[in-house]
Amino acid sequence: MGAKVKSKHFLNKNIESLAHLLFPKKCLICATELNINENQICQNCDSELPQMYLAEGETTNPVHKVFWGRVQIENAHAWLLYNKELSTKEILHAIKYKDKPQLARAMGEKLGQSISEFEWINTIDALIPVPIHPKKKFIRGYNQSEEIAKGMKGILKIPIDNYFLKRNLHTDSQTKKDRFGRWDNIEGAFRSEKNKNAYQHIAIVDDVITTGATMERIIHQIQEKNPDLRISVISLAFAQ
Ligand SMILES: [Zn+2]
Repeated sequence: MGAKVKSKHFLNKNIESLAHLLFPKKCLICATELNINENQICQNCDSELPQMYLAEGETTNPVHKVFWGRVQIENAHAWLLYNKELSTKEILHAIKYKDKPQLARAMGEKLGQSISEFEWINTIDALIPVPIHPKKKFIRGYNQSEEIAKGMKGILKIPIDNYFLKRNLHTDSQTKKDRFGRWDNIEGAFRSEKNKNAYQHIAIVDDVITTGATMERIIHQIQEKNPDLRISVISLAFAQ
C-alpha cells in the first residue's frame, strides 16, 4: 500500500470516527447509541431478530405453502418473521418510508447469509427485485427490494437484473379517474421481458410476503412469456 493511499485511508477512518462522535447514530429499533462497529441495529436487537430458520429445499415450509395451488415455483425462502408485535415491523417500515436504503442493504446481506449454504442458490442466474412504480422510486429515492438484492449480491455473487420485470406504466394513467378504487390494480400491474439472457432459474426478491398476491401476479406474468423458466421466491420477511 503506497503512503498516499495509506494516509487517505487513515484520514477517512478519522473522519468517520469524528462524525460518529459528533453525530452518534442510534439503533433503529431500541434507539440506543450505536458503537462504531454496529450497522443500523445494535447487537442486542440484532440477536433478537425473529428469524425463521427455514431449512433448505422444503416445499412444505410456510412461505412455499402460500403458493400451493396458485403458481408453480421451485423454492421459497424468507429470513424474518413479520407481525405487528415484532421488531421486523420497524425494519420494514424504515426501509420503505424512512429513507434507509443502507438498512435494506444490511438486511439483504443477512438474508443472503441465511441462504448462502443452500444448494439451490447456486443454480440462480439472476436476482430480480420486485419493481416499484417509477414515481414511487423517484419520491423514495430507491426501491427497497433492489437495495435488499444489492446486499444479497455482495454475499452470494449473483447478478441483479432490473430490466426483466417492470411496472406497467399504462395502468397509472387509467387510474387517474378513480385513484383509490383502483389502487390494487396499480400494485398488481407488471410486465416481464422474454428471457433473452437464457436464464434457467431466477429468484424474485421482495421485502415482505403477506398474502402472496403480488408475487403470484408477477410469476403469472413471467410464466406467460417464459413457460420453461424456473422461478424461486426470496423475501426479507414473511407475515404468518
Ligand atoms: Zn437496539
